[in-house]
Amino acid sequence: MRQSQLFTKTRREAPADEVSKNAQLLIRAGFVYKEMAGVYAFLPLGLRVLENIKNIVREEMNAAGGQELIMTALQRKELWEKTDRWSDEKVDVWFKSTLSAGGDVGFAWSHEEPISDMMKGYLESYRDLPVYVYQFQTKLRNELRAKSGVLRGREFVMKDLYSYTTDAAQHKEIYEAMIQAYQNVYRRIGLGDITFLTFASGGAFTQFSHEFQTVSDVGEDIIYIDTEKRIAVNKEVYTDEVLAHIGLEKEKLIEAKSIEVGNIFDFGGSKSEQLGLMFKDETGALKPVYLGSYGLGITRVMATIAEVMSDDKGLVWPEGVSPFRYHLVSLAGADETLRARADQLYDTLTEAGISVLYDDREQRAGEKFADSDLIGIPFRIVVGKNSTDTSFEVVTRSSGETRTMSKDELLQHS
Ligand code: ATP
Ligand code: MG
Repeated sequence: MRQSQLFTKTRREAPADEVSKNAQLLIRAGFVYKEMAGVYAFLPLGLRVLENIKNIVREEMNAAGGQELIMTALQRKELWEKTDRWSDEKVDVWFKSTLSAGGDVGFAWSHEEPISDMMKGYLESYRDLPVYVYQFQTKLRNELRAKSGVLRGREFVMKDLYSYTTDAAQHKEIYEAMIQAYQNVYRRIGLGDITFLTFASGGAFTQFSHEFQTVSDVGEDIIYIDTEKRIAVNKEVYTDEVLAHIGLEKEKLIEAKSIEVGNIFDFGGSKSEQLGLMFKDETGALKPVYLGSYGLGITRVMATIAEVMSDDKGLVWPEGVSPFRYHLVSLAGADETLRARADQLYDTLTEAGISVLYDDREQRAGEKFADSDLIGIPFRIVVGKNSTDTSFEVVTRSSGETRTMSKDELLQHS
């Protein structure tokens, strides 16, 4: 993509009412647009990051046997009444509306009820199980506080997977596969080192739910980490009894603030029982389908990266999610030879299927470098007086390290 064609511009200042670092950087660099508190639009650069994150998650969910679908954003009141989750006292983040034709609808904040109700039409016998379905969807939640930028939206993208199994034993298999899949996701997006599997409250039969928590000072959670075992305990369940149960020693744990980037748990058969989602087992007896729920905050992950990987110059995208692999910065100015050289390199790289943001604008070098640092693409190729037809200066955004690379090396370097 040619930067001269990109409609977004970098900005020196974020909106005055934006207090969070992640949103300030993402707005200044042109990744998101703030519509109102807790509500952000994703611009071309931001959308590329979101799609990269989604594709990594999609690959891992598919590998675990997940089938992708999209449920509706408008939901039926009576379903949520059956499970006693319609009232605002039970669920305090509902957005609701009344149809002109009469009757109430809810705006999707989660999907266990409608997906499970839909499954009544498809799951009859133990032979139909297990089934794992998932979606990427914009969830709507009437969050009380929306001061954390893209980390806590009133409108945000979540990946939610639901597992339907016959019993606790079959459930355990997918639950463990999901833990593995989530860990693969966080590693591939670049948050693996600072993200911990965390024991938290919830979970029907297991006594716990599991969260994935990324260490960050702006996090709203407090966790206690065993860095050797790479697991943690959320403060909400941090008791001597729980530590003993998990096999952790208090003295070895490190306290940290963290961001919840994922949460998985099981409902057992309770919700299916309330909704009437039953299956026939081998003996012909009717049993409630066992339900597991697995959420992962796609837009929150993007904001977390912006928050924890950035530096004083701007964003620093990990290779796995960056909007482009290379930022090709041309300092050609009026020099036709240099311009042709930059154009040619851009064509060669894009024809090879490598993503490049080509800064072909007329700006001064200093401004271009400042913009490039703010946008945070992993590798910057500079075409200027020091480059030749065969060797290019390449700067790594995260370390600032500079090296010289040939065209072939640029093509292979991935
Ligand atoms: P929190 O405790 O942060 O409010 P939650 O426990 O209500 O989150 P879940 O219902 O478990 O969240 O949602 C699954 C995942 O979706 C969370 O782990 C988080 O990554 C993400 N998420 C939840 N709420 C938001 C939000 N308001 N904005 C962005 N992402 C969110
Ligand atoms: Mg949660």
